[in-house]
Amino acid sequence: MNPQQPIFVTEPHLPPLEEFLPYLEQIWASKRITNSGPFHEQLEKELAAYLGVKHLSLFANGTLALLTALQALRISGEVITTPYTFVATAHSLLWNNIKPVFVDVDPDTCNLDPERVEEAITPATTAILPVHCYGIPCNVERIQQVADTYGLKVIYDAAHAFGVRQRGESILNHGDLAVLSFHATKVFNTFEGGAIVCPDAKIKQRIDHLKNFGFADEVTVVAPGINGKMNEISAAMGLLQLRHIDAALNTRTIMYQRYLDAFKDIPSLRLQQVPADLEWNHAYCPLFVRPEHPVSRDELYERLKSQNIHARRYFYPLISSFPMYRGLPSAAGKSLPNASALAEQVICLPIYPTLPIEAQERLIGIVRQTVK
Ligand SMILES: *Cc1c(COP(=O)(O)O)cnc(C)c1O
Repeated sequence: MNPQQPIFVTEPHLPPLEEFLPYLEQIWASKRITNSGPFHEQLEKELAAYLGVKHLSLFANGTLALLTALQALRISGEVITTPYTFVATAHSLLWNNIKPVFVDVDPDTCNLDPERVEEAITPATTAILPVHCYGIPCNVERIQQVADTYGLKVIYDAAHAFGVRQRGESILNHGDLAVLSFHATKVFNTFEGGAIVCPDAKIKQRIDHLKNFGFADEVTVVAPGINGKMNEISAAMGLLQLRHIDAALNTRTIMYQRYLDAFKDIPSLRLQQVPADLEWNHAYCPLFVRPEHPVSRDELYERLKSQNIHARRYFYPLISSFPMYRGLPSAAGKSLPNASALAEQVICLPIYPTLPIEAQERLIGIVRQTVK
């Protein structure tokens, strides 16, 4: 293996091109390229069945799906969310003129701490927007309890949580809505894409209108909708990806286990350990470099980079430190100690089905060198 070949934190999963060509031929023959074409309709059905959810509405990307989910439930005022996620989570609130209220996370799961959520509720709070960070489930029962007590909606940013099941049940069935991303870097990609998981046909219909400019039929516009539709080429890619997803998830599991075994004797390095009743998708491999580790997180990051291995510090910096958020009261001072500590310690190691085992072993060697 050529050490000059750069290794990135992920690589898009691309099935064999010859398997994709028949889909393209069908699209060319039918001239149906968007607007709820046959592949779009088929993917909605097949994905819902695969994921174990009732309904799902496909989108051009996860960000448009998040924006639309907030619109569909008429969320306004203040929404409680996590600072330890990708910026799109909080940006979706600003785009809807909603004030984000950042709440600290649980240091073990990296997810919103439900007890802190309760403390942050005000008369203006209308919803909670938690993230299943790295695909590891939030404390969904406790979050729902808090939401029910205070009459709040719950929208999960489930961009990382494709295929995750807890005690045999899809994690996507929690909350009022859950939003998926099928971006190139995610476990399941449609080049770009996303979806909203809907508990019933009524809310799916409203979302279907909203993603198509608000059209309910040829002459009726029922809402100031947007163009959020997934095109047929992406939908075809999704159908093909579905045939390969189980193999891809299996390979991720094996790779993650290899990392776990490699670092289990180093107490100053922590990897996520999940309970046996959780079918995790191993979407990411966050490694937490504790303060007592002989080499800092940033030093490790640089050492890997100098060997052409491009790990990423997801999620550093915290969203609450970006200019458009740092003036918020909830972003101030030391109000987010757990999220801040995680952001200082985390480094996400490369994990994707085509990562060569030699590259993984070379990387493990570099990390293990830091304790010598
Ligand atoms: C990827 C991601 C998004 C955005 O999805 P896109 O499909 O890239 O628009 C939103 N939230 C989280 C947590 C993500 O990781």
